[in-house]
Amino acid sequence: MISALQFNISDALGRWVCPACGYPGYSYGPAYDESHGLAGMAICPCCLWEPGYDDEPLASADAEETILGSLRSYRASWCRERLWRGRETERPDAWDGAEQLRRLFDTAPHVR
Ligand SMILES: [Zn+2]
Repeated sequence: MISALQFNISDALGRWVCPACGYPGYSYGPAYDESHGLAGMAICPCCLWEPGYDDEPLASADAEETILGSLRSYRASWCRERLWRGRETERPDAWDGAEQLRRLFDTAPHVR
């Protein structure tokens, strides 16, 4: 069985990475605990994905598949734009959404 913990992704620098768009440092702590309860609250400054809200159940009986399904759905919407959705003042100067997503899939291919 897939654990909700697999959606807590960190990079080599120890930053928590948004499982939807790959933005590093989107949260100060892991989003999920063992029981798929929320361990921490965060809103991604890049794609605005929010665990506990944007991972709400789709048409799936399996909680973990629901997270993955909602991630894929949310990401597809973001990819159609590949735009910085948050505050412009928080956008890194050389931000590259495609590169960010490529790094996410390198680090965590299971969330693809
Ligand atoms: Zn994001």
